[in-house]
Amino acid sequence: MITTVRTRYAPSPTGFMHVGNLRTAIYEYLIAKSNGGSFILRIEDTDQTRQVEGAVEVIYDTLKIAGLNHDEGPDIGGAYGPYIQSHRKTGYLEYAKQLVDKGAAYYCFCDKERLEELHRDGKEGISKYDRHCLRLSKEEIKAKLESGAPFVIRQLIPEGKTTFKDEVFGEITVDNKELEDQVLIKSDGLPTYNFANVVDDHLMEITHVVRGTEYLSSTPKYNLLYEAFGWEIPVYIHVTAVTNESGEKISKRKGAESIQQLVEKGYIPEAIVNYTTLLGWAPPDNREIFSLSELCDIFTLKGLSKSPSVFDYQKLKWMNGEYLKKMDFDEYYKLAEPVLKQSIKTAGIDLRHIGELCKTRIEFIRQIPSIIDFIDELPDYDIEMYTNKKMKTTSENSLDALKLLTDFLSAQEDFTNDAIYADTVKLAEEKGLKSSQLLWPLRTALSGKQATPCGASELCALLGKTESLRRLEIGIAKLESAQVEK
Ligand code: GLU
Repeated sequence: MITTVRTRYAPSPTGFMHVGNLRTAIYEYLIAKSNGGSFILRIEDTDQTRQVEGAVEVIYDTLKIAGLNHDEGPDIGGAYGPYIQSHRKTGYLEYAKQLVDKGAAYYCFCDKERLEELHRDGKEGISKYDRHCLRLSKEEIKAKLESGAPFVIRQLIPEGKTTFKDEVFGEITVDNKELEDQVLIKSDGLPTYNFANVVDDHLMEITHVVRGTEYLSSTPKYNLLYEAFGWEIPVYIHVTAVTNESGEKISKRKGAESIQQLVEKGYIPEAIVNYTTLLGWAPPDNREIFSLSELCDIFTLKGLSKSPSVFDYQKLKWMNGEYLKKMDFDEYYKLAEPVLKQSIKTAGIDLRHIGELCKTRIEFIRQIPSIIDFIDELPDYDIEMYTNKKMKTTSENSLDALKLLTDFLSAQEDFTNDAIYADTVKLAEEKGLKSSQLLWPLRTALSGKQATPCGASELCALLGKTESLRRLEIGIAKLESAQVEK
């Protein structure tokens, strides 16, 4: 019976973390935190050949960025340490010897050449170890060990069938004939991952194990080990792959980006965590935006999916925009201010106000410059932009509108957004026009753009009277010269 929930994220330090890795860490975290349990970080570095310098620091950094604070780990310690597998190595051999004594494992002295030969002879490339060394007598084994002969320790798979339960895939039964006598302790004395994960999960009192479906086929072997030791089997949660848009599992080798790279590109960590959680897990309702603590409140294993999930950048971008929209203004402005300062050199412009206008219109902070580039300098634009069916404008009536607006704005005393808007609408009414027939040409002349972060009257207020009139003049000249050409 599970009393205290304890989960672990157990990465091998082979490089950075991509969203697939992060997702495992998130699920482990959520299972622990939604049950008032502990989330542990364990570094699985038994395969020394695959280690990448600095990878452990990247793991700490990624968990920190994501807000997945661990309760125990190599950097902060804890009652179940050490939390780096290579630092625990002496214990594994002792445990493997216990299995040998119980008849659940055996010494194997076969050399590389023999194993290679066996592998070559195997049908269709699949070969199981032929139990050559199982035939050795106790005395032969003792003599070999005393002579210092290199050895490995293999698991002895018993006959029969093994059944296990996975929280996502249900009950799975395999015939033990399909299972190989896998190596538990390598000739360098270090445990294989397959052995170390069982021993460590037991010693660290791990209750729930989340890992990829690539481990499903090994799980019966792990369970046979738990049973041989008489240890309690953890709850298994095998999660399906995260794929790219072409259906390939995302991986470091196939160019997946690190979480740090996503952050550098302008993705907000909270949005990354939110989106990543939804890759393979669905909440009970259709809601999509959740903070990590909200996720802790509602996360259950029931929402996990059996099918692979596609990492969709468009969706992540959308979510990033949603996070920017709901971000506290001051927090947002801290990110936006440097970009605004760089993009607007014109004196007297209220940068906070521009920032406010952009906040709901962007998916990334870096999109701000392209939205507001017209403020410093009116871009050269095509007069086609004056023609808009919905607004009922043409280049002809736009020319009239700009002339009318020039007179009106020259005389306008209250140059605030509200006043200009109300007076323009009134002017349109007086002249028997739709208000869009004045506002559209005005917006075009002031910005030279199809899309602006605010409407025409607000653009006037922003640019001020002199600059607004200058831009109207440019618009008039453009439209007039086009008419002459006709
Ligand atoms: N060290 C394994 C990996 O990085 C972890 C698998 C597990 O969680 O047991 O794939």
